[in-house]
Amino acid sequence: ADKTGLYSMVVRDENGTLKAIPYAQYFADPLQETAKLLDDAAELADDPAFANYLRLRAKALLSNDYQPSDFAWMDMKSNPIELVIGPIETYEDQLFGYRAAFEAYVLLKDLSWSERLSKYAAYLPELQTNLPVAAAYKKEMPGANADLNAYDVIYYAGHSNAGSKTIAINLPNDEQVQLEKGTRRLQLKNAMRAKFENILVPIADMLMVPEQRNNITFDAFFANTMFHEVAHGLGVKNTINDKGTVRQALKEHASALEEGKADILGLYMVSQLLEKGVISEGTLEDYYTTFMAGIFRSVRFGASSAHGKANMIRFNFFQEYGAFSRNSDGLYRVNMDKMAEAIDALSRLILTLQGDGDYDGVSALVAEKGVIKATLASDLQRLTQANIPVDITFEQGKKVLGLSNQ
Ligand SMILES: [Zn+2]
Repeated sequence: ADKTGLYSMVVRDENGTLKAIPYAQYFADPLQETAKLLDDAAELADDPAFANYLRLRAKALLSNDYQPSDFAWMDMKSNPIELVIGPIETYEDQLFGYRAAFEAYVLLKDLSWSERLSKYAAYLPELQTNLPVAAAYKKEMPGANADLNAYDVIYYAGHSNAGSKTIAINLPNDEQVQLEKGTRRLQLKNAMRAKFENILVPIADMLMVPEQRNNITFDAFFANTMFHEVAHGLGVKNTINDKGTVRQALKEHASALEEGKADILGLYMVSQLLEKGVISEGTLEDYYTTFMAGIFRSVRFGASSAHGKANMIRFNFFQEYGAFSRNSDGLYRVNMDKMAEAIDALSRLILTLQGDGDYDGVSALVAEKGVIKATLASDLQRLTQANIPVDITFEQGKKVLGLSNQ
């Protein structure tokens, strides 16, 4: 029982038989300590909905039932301080992508940016309807009251601080909560800007043609990342042929394909909203070119990460469509018309594979396109030789925040 669950460890008993032990039991000591701290924090919280969430989250750590606290998290709207904590993402489970790893983020909400972002969520149902795929693959309606907020991060812990640093989150992952309440998208602005300035701009200076370097903008980077999160809400959570949830049908490939979906549909959304005039900043060329430079940035995370794999598939797919070209100096140029075609075609492919729960089809796609070919590898090598970092690391903690003298 619970072999596909999110919150248990699979171990052998004394007879050599496999059994599942809930996290609450397996990690009892640290979880009891954490739950106590969350209850203490709830006493200090001014916002009643936030206090309620903290208490329910403490309870979840001890009961292994996270759903009530996920619902409570979606119900709180006015808290200026945010805490995301618990076993959440499944990228760390490299066997089937079922188990969630513990992590935490302490965040401060940027109220003015959040207001600016909230208007986009209203377009989700309309954008779902217009997806470039057959009607059967867009039957689920994304929650319309989902919210989109910008934050500055002040602390990353556990899984979120163990490797590549997330710049945007879309939660909760619980499919039932998503269908009833939608999701919250958290854009981590200060972390995003650090990556843009220290990584993306230097990459573009080395790999993009000079004429398109002016199209690399923070607004476009921010929007592409933001719409990636919104796009997680598009498409389907359940297969259309009774194979259960997409996540379970696609097993260890589920995360890579879901990330690939969010990337490509994010860009699709940007182009739709630009056309409608809902987005007024920048040009389509800004968004496409910044997206292209973003692929080089993400591919560097390598084959073991879901985001890295998704980016390689997209790079190779774009290349086949002629969405970009590479000149004899090793500089890349986005071809606008072909790029638009490639975006539609890749969106259709991913949405269909997900809706069909086509595990074999996804395996073939990952095997064929989830690889870094020689030319790209040598271009990435140039970035490494130029000492352009793959990721940022954080100096954080009470002392950095001026909250402690130790
Ligand atoms: Zn994502």
